[in-house]
Amino acid sequence: MIEAGIASRVCIDSRKVVAGCIFVAVRGEKHDGHIFLNDVVVRQASIAIVDKVWHKKCGVAFLDKIIMLAVNDTVAALQHLSMIYREKFSIPVVAIGGNSGKTTTKEILHHLLSSKYDTLATEGNLNNHIGVPLTLLRLSKKTQIAVIEMGMNHKGEMAFLCDLVKPTCGLITNIGTAHAEFFSNEQDIAESEGELFDYLIKTNGALFINIDDENVVKQSIGATKETIKTYSMSSTADVQMTDIACDLLNGNTRCRIRTCSEIEPFVFNLIGKHNAQNVLAAVTVGTGFDISLNEMMLRLSTFKMKEELKRSITKQMGDVFIINDSYNANPESMNAVLDTIVKETEASHKGRKIAVLGDMLELGSRAEMEHYRLGKKLEAGKWDIVLAIGTFAPLLCKEKKIAYSRAFENTKEERNKLIDELTRLVQCGDIILFKGSRGMLMEELLNAFESRC
Ligand code: ATP
Ligand code: MG
Repeated sequence: MIEAGIASRVCIDSRKVVAGCIFVAVRGEKHDGHIFLNDVVVRQASIAIVDKVWHKKCGVAFLDKIIMLAVNDTVAALQHLSMIYREKFSIPVVAIGGNSGKTTTKEILHHLLSSKYDTLATEGNLNNHIGVPLTLLRLSKKTQIAVIEMGMNHKGEMAFLCDLVKPTCGLITNIGTAHAEFFSNEQDIAESEGELFDYLIKTNGALFINIDDENVVKQSIGATKETIKTYSMSSTADVQMTDIACDLLNGNTRCRIRTCSEIEPFVFNLIGKHNAQNVLAAVTVGTGFDISLNEMMLRLSTFKMKEELKRSITKQMGDVFIINDSYNANPESMNAVLDTIVKETEASHKGRKIAVLGDMLELGSRAEMEHYRLGKKLEAGKWDIVLAIGTFAPLLCKEKKIAYSRAFENTKEERNKLIDELTRLVQCGDIILFKGSRGMLMEELLNAFESRC
């Protein structure tokens, strides 16, 4: 099993089952894996892990077709399996936690480490209590380093994931208000992210610390000097980035990165200070794995964010420039991308700025205030056109100084109206940002707009 990784053999998606698989029937929000047991049998899975209640009621129909293991909780069984499996590997495991930028940092780090090591990394955004176990089950005998993205939206979740992953080192990208719905205050969020550092401190693991974020620094209290490596874009640190210059229309950024022994000019195909921070985090981890800055500089120049990840993708469409940041949104990530566009258009671009924005979800009681602030920010940034969609859209369209704004409800009809409006308004040289929370499906709006142009 370890030769190939047992993930090819452990499956929660019945459509991916191949002969010999272990199928774990998970009850999700939309689907219940138990419903697909017939398919799983047809596809010749060897074992199905099912829950006891279902087994008692329906399992008898499958008794002579597949071996069934009935458990109290199938997700817990999957987690337990992954935990035991993880323990078979004595390799470095890098954990990436934080508020925003985890997937981006993980993708960059995977790219850097893969130049020298056989590296396993989380696929896409599989960073939760199910995605993390599935990632661990992909470890194989040839894996030399694993990079695991770990997401959380409840207290204790990060600590739980650490118990599965057993990271040997890790970083917290930043700490802010993303996924705030289930927290009572910001201190709670910070401490919950900090559970990653708590684990590393307890196990004598290594911490890569973003010293530009005081909340992150606070969580690292207690770590010994020998176990930390700091990085910064503004002050002296073990790894430091300076001279950052973003070229919006070419979709890239130039900078210098320095350690105590090396300094190199870097160019990477991402825009904005926030992405520069992600690059710096990944490079800092790279220095911990004996890769020189020069090697990383060369390797990073070939990094391109995968289009399907929908993060910071820039492209020219005829005479219009599009920024597709449709994957997700929270106040920090919204600020980061808006600041980048405002700063860069002030410096160079002459066209109008158009924001097509969806609600920022999962903000709990902070939602109204954060959308109100966003409206103010759009006004201060002198956005020319704001087309907003969702429950909080009217809050983005109240400001008088935005030349044109309109709020749409999140219905099929209104979504079509938004595209009509955008198609009508757009002019040569415009720069258009698409961004909103995952549930707002902003990429569908972008696709619809593209198919009209
Ligand atoms: P999720 O919690 O959804 O998994 P994530 O932490 O993996 O998110 P990414 O998917 O890398 O974050 O980025 C999501 C969005 O956050 C990006 O599209 C970008 O707008 C913004 N972002 C990325 N990096 C940063 C950063 N370092 N600081 C602030 N915002 C960022
Ligand atoms: Mg992510």
